[in-house]
Amino acid sequence: GTIADTLTRGVGNVTDTLSETFFEPVVRIGVTGLSRAGKTVFITSLVANLLDRGRMPQLAAEAEARILTAYLQPQPDDTVARFDYESHLAALTAREPRWPDSTRAVSELRLSLKVRPTGLLAGLQGPRTVHLDIVDYPGEWLLDLGLLEQSYEHWTEKTLKRLPQRPGSEPFLTMLGGIDPNEEFTEPKAKALAETFTEALQTAREAGFSDCTPGRFLLPGEKAGSPALTFAPMPKPENPARRGLWREMDRRFEAYKSQIVKPFFRDHFSRIDRQIVLVDALGAIHAGPPALDDLRRTMAGILKAFRPGSNAWLTQLLRGRRVEKILFAATKADHLHHTQHQRLTAIMEALTREARDRARFAGAETAAMSIAALRATVEQTLPHNGSELDCVRGTLLNPDGSRGKQAAFYPGALPEDPAHLLTPAREGAAGWLDADYEIMRFAPAPLTLKPGEGPPHIRLDRAAQFLVGDRL
Ligand code: GDP
Repeated sequence: GTIADTLTRGVGNVTDTLSETFFEPVVRIGVTGLSRAGKTVFITSLVANLLDRGRMPQLAAEAEARILTAYLQPQPDDTVARFDYESHLAALTAREPRWPDSTRAVSELRLSLKVRPTGLLAGLQGPRTVHLDIVDYPGEWLLDLGLLEQSYEHWTEKTLKRLPQRPGSEPFLTMLGGIDPNEEFTEPKAKALAETFTEALQTAREAGFSDCTPGRFLLPGEKAGSPALTFAPMPKPENPARRGLWREMDRRFEAYKSQIVKPFFRDHFSRIDRQIVLVDALGAIHAGPPALDDLRRTMAGILKAFRPGSNAWLTQLLRGRRVEKILFAATKADHLHHTQHQRLTAIMEALTREARDRARFAGAETAAMSIAALRATVEQTLPHNGSELDCVRGTLLNPDGSRGKQAAFYPGALPEDPAHLLTPAREGAAGWLDADYEIMRFAPAPLTLKPGEGPPHIRLDRAAQFLVGDRL
């Protein structure tokens, strides 16, 4: 939070940005989470609600009417893709609102706020400009940190042990069974193996499994098709042949680590000040105990990146720099009646407890919340068998993407004690949220809910207050 902090931030061209950072603080906010967690919707809604104010009462600077103007500006990083805010907003605000396209790679956007200072300084100083650089990146890429400590041989062992327990692995395992790792390397063979392996990862992901490393196989970004992304696990032969498949796969795995994974951490991750980690906890709970257990382990993997000292290479890269605040947010809370939100938050807290304890120990402030960046439902209490049922009502999304009919659903209840979900051996771990949750595919609501229907989001303003409130 000090000026020295701001000045030592690794912004390539120090002299250029010196005066700017001195007078106009920059806060780099990382937004991550596994694919479909809700990153794109979160950033689009956050920016829209900050640009068009009046709907974020829990953001102190807004409640105190200190945000004078908010505007988008070119970001400082010329070679990073711009977050496509305008297209995403256009999808959400179309006459027939659609969900925007999801995150595929790193992108960034700068939102600048002109704010009136608070407290004693208010009378002495004019308005200040604060730049929020919002960086969107796939959580899958963070998981790759774990690969840095593994050799190709070790990674293969772990992966081949895991694959048979997951749906969709047979074609790859069959193909692998028919190949001698010492066969002469050819590109088509490598490509066929990599493609079949990627399909196995994709099927596992769709079945609700979270840990599907290498992260770039699912979300390759602009490196798709390059040798560093064209490998697959293969058992080590006794004497690896010089021109053999195994040797080349081993080499490519090392290239993936040094030329794909490390640059991401160096160029993007190491520069983040504040971080929000979005988690589709409801989706995993609904998918069942194996998926939830996998999510728990995956979260631990993701959170390693925020745990000082967990990885020697990263520790050296960061040289004492750290993320100041980390928010863990369960997304899509609008699928539940608000009476269930506390339980969802408790589950998030339990999922991230160890990592939060360690991050706190290292001086980072952390919190867990349940949010909906874009509320697609309203609440409704319906009579049911002589008692009452707390439901949510929304417009269903047809499989072809068109808007279906309005309907009220009871998604089921979450357990009061998160341990009932997170201890797989516990009896009754299966079956939470299996009421109507399956069919609750809501279309985005038009950004204008009617009076009495509440704000267009759930706790997006609290999330913003936690992340940047102290800097405004
Ligand atoms: P990303 O892959 O992390 O960028 O995920 P997206 O932001 O594209 O979100 C994936 C999907 O989750 C969206 O297409 C929506 O169907 C759903 N979603 C995301 N945020 C919300 C929300 O706040 N409420 C509801 N009801 N659905 C959401």
